[in-house]
Amino acid sequence: MRTIFHILLAVVVVCSLFQVNTVVPEYKMYGSAEFIHYDASTNEFVNNDPGLAMWRASGDVIPNTHPGCFKRVPAKEQLNITFRPNGPMWRRAWPLFLVGMATLRPIYVHARPDRAYEERFDTLLMVNGSVAVLNQVTIDLLGYPGLAIDETFVSSDVAEGEERPWLLNYLRNHIQEVLDAGDEPVIFCTLLSYNACGSLDLLRQLKADFGDKLRTGVGGQLVRVCPSAYLSQPYIDHVGVGDAEAVLGELLLNGKKFAEGYKPVTREDHYALPHYDNLLALPERLTEMSHYDFGPMVAPRMLITESCRGCAWANAVGAACPFCSLQGVEWIARFRNFEDHFAIERELVEKYGANWLFDVSNQWIPEMGSAQRMWLESYIKAKKKYGGPEVGRYVYLTAGSINEHTAPLLPQTGVKVAYVGIDGWDKETKRALGKQVTNDRRMLQLARDNGIFIRTSMVIGSGLTLDNIEELPRYVKATLDEFGGNTILSWGNFIEIVLPGSQDWSDFRKLAYQNGLTDVQDLYRSFETNGCLTLDEQDKLNELRIRHTQPQVAYEQVLEAARLAEEAALQSLAYSTTIRHGDKLMRKD
Ligand code: SF4
Repeated sequence: MRTIFHILLAVVVVCSLFQVNTVVPEYKMYGSAEFIHYDASTNEFVNNDPGLAMWRASGDVIPNTHPGCFKRVPAKEQLNITFRPNGPMWRRAWPLFLVGMATLRPIYVHARPDRAYEERFDTLLMVNGSVAVLNQVTIDLLGYPGLAIDETFVSSDVAEGEERPWLLNYLRNHIQEVLDAGDEPVIFCTLLSYNACGSLDLLRQLKADFGDKLRTGVGGQLVRVCPSAYLSQPYIDHVGVGDAEAVLGELLLNGKKFAEGYKPVTREDHYALPHYDNLLALPERLTEMSHYDFGPMVAPRMLITESCRGCAWANAVGAACPFCSLQGVEWIARFRNFEDHFAIERELVEKYGANWLFDVSNQWIPEMGSAQRMWLESYIKAKKKYGGPEVGRYVYLTAGSINEHTAPLLPQTGVKVAYVGIDGWDKETKRALGKQVTNDRRMLQLARDNGIFIRTSMVIGSGLTLDNIEELPRYVKATLDEFGGNTILSWGNFIEIVLPGSQDWSDFRKLAYQNGLTDVQDLYRSFETNGCLTLDEQDKLNELRIRHTQPQVAYEQVLEAARLAEEAALQSLAYSTTIRHGDKLMRKD
């Protein structure tokens, strides 16, 4: 009886949430701009909040209440109506389904880099925002958050490198408490190439402890590369590919084994915001990080936001950089509407005392060329209009984004530190990496003149010649002698990593099968079976790629050049970092 009652209740509630109207081609659609919009790129009419607003259609007259806020319905052969139940009405209604049922208690873990990776000097400063975003998506779905955990900092009592035993113990206790309360625990890990093995290990151990009483799942950028690697693991119940906004409900609520989906993003309907309230040990972490200074970041309390998806550079040239494994970078870059953007930032400042924001957008400026200046001007105007907070801002930019026109404007936006991928150090290396051939010395001078600090790195593995690998250490030394410490805060020397999901990854896989490179095939097979590469496997893959694709140089010569470049960075006033080693920030007191 109770089951039938629940089904009937569900049907009634769902039906009451939707109203379907047909629309006539050539009619005008209009409504409140606060909730509805038309997305020309996907030809979609979207109502973000069916509980509060609705699209209306008119053959001719648009009422004065909606001046200019309408679109003509294009003549189409087919009309699709898609329901996305994501408004507050849905949020209010959803708990009705839970009456008498076990309450879902989601846990989201972003694992620390696998053990072989040395902790980066800035890890403490980089709170993981993705688990906080998952928590916001959970609030949208369930009306309450889950528990978000960034394993790089779980408690101020836990020493660096000792997080895993502590976390396992903590999770075991937490999950048992949830079960004892009659609720249902579900744990998801976000997988990236550097933490996948450790994440899978964590899920394997917890599944062994709790069996069917605990649901486990994976999502994150790495999963889309080979979902079958995770679907075939007996200790994983759910596999999500794409954006959490599109797939988490299917996995968490509908119990699907696999879901794939991407959120169509507009300026008005952007990605979910981070919800930091339930991030384990966040207050302690913010206090701890304030004991470290890093260039202009003095006593930082830094939180993560993401204002722009897509990458203006990749979109402009029609391809991602060959080593880039980020999802959706070729899409049109869309920055969140300024009013929301500044409201979020104000909240992070007022609620958590943030004084720095690391905006992890792939490229912070959503434009290229001369449009960058205009965009920065509109940003500065909007910052005044919407009361944007005075915080330090750390963002990703291309080398071409710091020029005579933009450099004087960037400080007015709050940008004080930018990560700029210089990547190549001569024409051959830049071209092979799909980069603009820019005057990087000029870019660094402009940054220095305008008080902008730069973090940057070399990607060593494409376009290599005997001349340019000999030149590399000299280039690093000369650049850091001039700019190290006063402009360049940190310098990375990275052997090009064949990141799963990148163009390098698919090109090299193709070459391995075309040319019968069995040692390379074994590495790909290992990833496709286990869902991760150990750091040794990753290093081996990087090495083999250079050996098979850079015929003008011997791998040993490349390693030696990279070693000398690292030495130059270590001797400079900038912080040095490589995939295995890094400088350390000193605690002030
Ligand atoms: S590496 Fe940076 S610039 Fe290149 S495609 Fe990826 S996000 Fe864009």
